Amino acid sequence: MAKNHNPNLAKIHRNYSIEEVANLYQVHKNTVLAWIKNHGLKTIDNLKPILILGSELRLFHQNKRTKNKRKCLPYEIYCLKCRKPQIPAENMADYIPMTDTTGRLNCLCPQCENLINKYFSLSNIQLITSKLTIAFPEGKKTHNLEGQPPPKQ
Ligand SMILES: [Zn+2]
Repeated sequence: MAKNHNPNLAKIHRNYSIEEVANLYQVHKNTVLAWIKNHGLKTIDNLKPILILGSELRLFHQNKRTKNKRKCLPYEIYCLKCRKPQIPAENMADYIPMTDTTGRLNCLCPQCENLINKYFSLSNIQLITSKLTIAFPEGKKTHNLEGQPPPKQ
């Protein structure tokens, strides 16, 4: 199940039968049926035998890929050790400015307690202040926050 299939195998403007899909991705017909039944692969409505649009096949495999490699939400930071996005321990992170508009978020991984960080644009800070307590270095506290001072520690 963990096998990654190349989304570009399917031609967008073609329809595929179950057998053709199985041949295309070199999987068993039952696997294709499972994709349809359990994993949300869309078929062309009310057609028997079942046909699948090439564009749907592509989308399906693209989504599968991105599911495996989920992107971090704004308030999550990817932990290299845990190999997944983590919400900072205690919901706390330090913002370390690098320029006037960008910086780094530093925090601890809640699972392995490794130091994790990511680049962060100051203009997005409001996306995360409801989830996280962000500590700012002295002198930068109200920078660009439009009347929303960061919560004090
Ligand atoms: Zn971790």
